[in-house]
Amino acid sequence: MKDENFLKENNARHLWQPMGHPGDAQANPPRIIKSARGSTITDIDGHSVVDAVGGLWCVNLGYSNDKVKQAIADQLQVLPYASGFAGSTTPPAIEAAYAVQAFFAEDGIERVFFTSGGSDSVETCLRLARQYHRLRGEPTRTKFLSLKKGYHGTHFGGASVNGNIRFRTAYEPLLPGCFHLTAPYTYRNPFDETDPARLAQKIVQMAEDEIAFQGANTIAAFIMEPILGAGGVIVPDASFMPLMRDLCDRHGILMIADEVITGFGRTGDWTGARHWGVKPDLMSCAKGITSAYFPVGAALISGKVAEVFESAGADGAIWHGYTYSAHPVGAAAVVACLAETLRLDTKTNAAARGTQLYEGVCRLAEKYDVIGDVRGGHGLMVGIEIVSDRATKAPMDAQTMTRIHQATYEAGAMVRLGMHNILMSPPLVVTEAEIDQVLAALDTGFAAA
Ligand SMILES: *Cc1c(COP(=O)(O)O)cnc(C)c1O
Repeated sequence: MKDENFLKENNARHLWQPMGHPGDAQANPPRIIKSARGSTITDIDGHSVVDAVGGLWCVNLGYSNDKVKQAIADQLQVLPYASGFAGSTTPPAIEAAYAVQAFFAEDGIERVFFTSGGSDSVETCLRLARQYHRLRGEPTRTKFLSLKKGYHGTHFGGASVNGNIRFRTAYEPLLPGCFHLTAPYTYRNPFDETDPARLAQKIVQMAEDEIAFQGANTIAAFIMEPILGAGGVIVPDASFMPLMRDLCDRHGILMIADEVITGFGRTGDWTGARHWGVKPDLMSCAKGITSAYFPVGAALISGKVAEVFESAGADGAIWHGYTYSAHPVGAAAVVACLAETLRLDTKTNAAARGTQLYEGVCRLAEKYDVIGDVRGGHGLMVGIEIVSDRATKAPMDAQTMTRIHQATYEAGAMVRLGMHNILMSPPLVVTEAEIDQVLAALDTGFAAA
């Protein structure tokens, strides 16, 4: 590796980063993360902090899982790549599909289509949804419904169903025929509705109205995150997803659960939808599927959808996929990661540590007026909305947010900023002492504001 001076000198010179301004990078160069152990990351200056972001909601097993590392190294020796397109496959691809399908059998999942990440998985689900209706003789069902504040990755399909203006404006026009419902966001919503169950009902009524207006026979699918992640950790009322499931069923609309963050234990159960007692027709996943040791995603297919494709004529062929679909090294990582996830029963620690983190942040909210809303309570996903005035709920300015972030980092925890929200999703193997460290660091961070 080049020396530190080289790295610092060339930082932000040649590299354009996702979600960053290339013209701003020289003035505000990114932190250089050099190494990691367990749930702790260390930067180039030797400063170590608890990674309360879990990489990017993805390092579920922490950074030191030797089983996953060994599985990857072993597979590299045996077979670093073979095509996953129809005509050939590999032992790890077969094993990984078996493991993933078994992992989600309780959710009605029967088939697995591997991708290279979450955006790919969302794209695959959207496409399969359209094809499903075409195969069933309803080719007019092409539109998509989704939620404002939702995040579904950055491909054109995913960006089109995305519910955040930031990811849209520069790239419009997006896919036609995408319609967005109000988010189940109790702290702010156009109805000024402060009761989560009543808000859920209003949104479902809105959906009913939109479907009547569009014509149910034009709508292919509704996509939602069971708990909205990047949009600020928005936890819907327990009634919301079941009501939407029922609405979809009544109108012949497929339900896609985007479980890219919520899958594999983060919420304290193996999927987010299980909290709400919902089985989706299609499920997108990624992140925790390999705990980020290798870029892999998957579109998961229920028996209901699989049956239509598998019994169809020539039109049932899937003319979609990725060079790295079912990459053997990625597949080996999936197999090892799922075995470790089950062995460590990460969902149970996620639930316990998630409660500790959520309750700790609620205590901080009593101490600091800048905390407008605390969201979480389901595993290791916690969002803190920061305001400059609790009465008007005016969002905190970017400069103050950066100051909180920096002070928290210096005090021992890496958190993530999403607009004026602090987002946290530590590794699912995080310890009680490490969560205490995160809470103490946040305390220092808020004191700096
Ligand atoms: C991260 C994320 C995606 C996109 O995944 P990438 O691997 O970044 O393409 C899609 N949906 C949700 C809910 C996500 O959190």
